[in-house]
Amino acid sequence: MYANFKKNSTQVKNKELPAVVPKKYFKKWNEQKPYAELWMGTHPNGPSYLTAKNISLQDYIQQNAEILGSEVNKKFGLSLPFLFKILSIRKALSIQAHPDKDKAEELHLQHPEIYKDSNHKPELTIALTPFEALCGFRPIKEIKEYLKLLPELRAVIGEDIVNQFMMIDDSENTLLLKNCFYNLMTCDHNLVTLQLEHLLKRLSCLDQSSQQILNADLLRRLYLDYPGDVGCFGIYMFNYITMQPGEALYLGPNEPHAYIYGDCVECMACSDNVVRAGLTSKLKDIKTLTEILTYKCEPLLAKKFHGYCEDNYTEVFQPPVPDFAVAKIVIPSNKMNYELIPRSTASILITISGKAETDTSQILQKGSILFIHANKKIDILMLRAFSNRIISGY
Ligand SMILES: [Zn+2]
Repeated sequence: MYANFKKNSTQVKNKELPAVVPKKYFKKWNEQKPYAELWMGTHPNGPSYLTAKNISLQDYIQQNAEILGSEVNKKFGLSLPFLFKILSIRKALSIQAHPDKDKAEELHLQHPEIYKDSNHKPELTIALTPFEALCGFRPIKEIKEYLKLLPELRAVIGEDIVNQFMMIDDSENTLLLKNCFYNLMTCDHNLVTLQLEHLLKRLSCLDQSSQQILNADLLRRLYLDYPGDVGCFGIYMFNYITMQPGEALYLGPNEPHAYIYGDCVECMACSDNVVRAGLTSKLKDIKTLTEILTYKCEPLLAKKFHGYCEDNYTEVFQPPVPDFAVAKIVIPSNKMNYELIPRSTASILITISGKAETDTSQILQKGSILFIHANKKIDILMLRAFSNRIISGY
């Protein structure tokens, strides 16, 4: 990725890399390789760069405080408070949660080599293609149903604690769920592998509808990518959510989740703090994860996050944090001119599909990224060429 600065906007392209971009900004880029993440922002793990100014976005912000907008300056100082990403997931990303601000500060202080910054990381995900994820604990009733149907899950959690769990009221959210989850995640690896293999074998003998009830396809897919990983059992503890393009999910602090498949836009507070516990080859910090989780049990329907319309073309997703919001802008092909709603804070705009031109003659097409100063007005102009009526004689 490189950033190409034009007037007061930044255009970031992903295919060409001019020699002026310092190596640290693209040293890992290889056009032949597929990538899972595109980062837009100033986080040191993946900073953006303004080529025309020959300066990183972070340095440019440091030198031009006013471009962030006064509210951001007041609240966050001289830094972009959010990180914007495109994710393209073909293999499940780890079961994870992100700490709240206090815990992030504590973790960073204690283990700076693992938790690289001290910020919280609430995140918003908007699907670009059909998208699958695990998100939040299932209602107690559903977890109990799975425990009844799955002796393999009972075996890895432990019969004693499961029996206690089965006694609790369905509306109760108790310490017992935490204990069950802790037992599951800390179970001996050999026992987990044995029980997962046993379960997969048993599922393959069941009829189609029983397989569906027990999420057999999903389990097989996860097991193929992460054989023997205890996270495969996570599908019976967490809501399995499927989203259509344009649908969104908001994950506040300490909410367990795992993205499984699909493309999405993601926006978050400017942080890379991830506490992982399963479906990963990266470091697992099960003790921290089980300690911080909310253990809030909610049905699937409660998990989707809804935006509101600002005008006919702009839908805004506004999570309950000051760090970020995301506007989804859909301009129909018959609309010739559209002025982006001005924002009092700096913003990053990525074009997902189609082609348009700005009033400063910048061409926006799939993958174009603009950095827009606070309060800057931008007109988007679209031109459409088409075959004329057939005129006889020509
Ligand atoms: Zn996450």
